[in-house]
Amino acid sequence: MKELVEQWVRPEIRGLSAYHVPDPGGLIKLDAMENPYGWPEDLRRAWWAELFQQVEMNRYPDPAAGALSARLRQSLGVPEGAGLLLGNGSDEIIQMLALTLGGPGRVILSVEPGFVMYRMIAGFTGMDYVGVPLREEDFRLDLPAVLEAVERHHPALLFLAYPNNPTGNLFDAEDVRAVIRAAPGLVVVDEAYAPFTDASFLPQVLDYDNLLVMRTLSKMGLAGLRLGLLAGAEAWIREIDKTRLPYNINVLTQAVAELALRHRGVFDEQTARIREQRGRLFARLERMDGIRPYPSQANFILFRTADGRGAGIFQALKEHGVLIKNLHGSHPRLADCLRVTVGTPEENDAFLEALRGSVAAAES
Ligand SMILES: *Cc1c(COP(=O)(O)O)cnc(C)c1O
Repeated sequence: MKELVEQWVRPEIRGLSAYHVPDPGGLIKLDAMENPYGWPEDLRRAWWAELFQQVEMNRYPDPAAGALSARLRQSLGVPEGAGLLLGNGSDEIIQMLALTLGGPGRVILSVEPGFVMYRMIAGFTGMDYVGVPLREEDFRLDLPAVLEAVERHHPALLFLAYPNNPTGNLFDAEDVRAVIRAAPGLVVVDEAYAPFTDASFLPQVLDYDNLLVMRTLSKMGLAGLRLGLLAGAEAWIREIDKTRLPYNINVLTQAVAELALRHRGVFDEQTARIREQRGRLFARLERMDGIRPYPSQANFILFRTADGRGAGIFQALKEHGVLIKNLHGSHPRLADCLRVTVGTPEENDAFLEALRGSVAAAES
């Protein structure tokens, strides 16, 4: 059996480790950039009614997701004339992009530390991956290094998360424009954290021949639905759409996402609360000895602990009932770095309290 598997599974797949999601058990869950707020009662009732009256489980979904697409265009402000493609989460869209532009010797380029899916999907699809380090001190784009790597590797696909995960910062917009102008292939600006910043390339997406903007509803509060989208010139979108499996957006996602966007105000109010809590959490972290938080435009905060303490503090936090993300060991620039998702005020207080205890325990 083992020999058969080794004979037939592609070596690049065998060489990967599967994407690991820890079981939160009963812990306070601040590890995955989820919106901590549920739906108000009246919206829940509208949702039930919609599911019973509108959703036909025996039928295939609308392959073009027409009603949802129209709602998304209007709600997110997709520019007039732009094409739009939907994915089962933006992860699936990254995969479609790789299937469309990939091939032997073709390169995906991004910056590091960055979103792990770009590298993983390059691996699945047999593409080469190049990760250009961000600046050490502040995680800004190292523009000369990126331009040099672009020139050397001629990437078919270049991803920039804006704001970046796991560092939380927004790259300088002028630097991003310089990268778009220099790139020979397609540049995808991944705006997964758009609800938590005012900056966006979506209004300018048609100003460049090689730019597409990707969004998701996950971080806004619909992570369980799995809906991502890609917007830009119709000439690109039409080709990428050929790699989309028919019916990739199921009937439940189409109906519920459309309903949620009709009540966009509920989610705007929640994301505004998260932004406010982010400021409060950052200020508290800044005042703690031995903790250095990095400014964030997303719904999480990256922070560095004292030398050699990161893993111990992460473990102690878990013992205090709080699950965050340990990034120590994931990249040389992230030594002793942890990432906390902004939760409700109560969750954030519980986290801060646990962190105080964990830092004190690590010092004694
Ligand atoms: C979370 C995240 C995504 C994935 O979003 P899904 O739509 O849930 O697949 C994409 N890009 C970045 C940078 C993210 O942090």
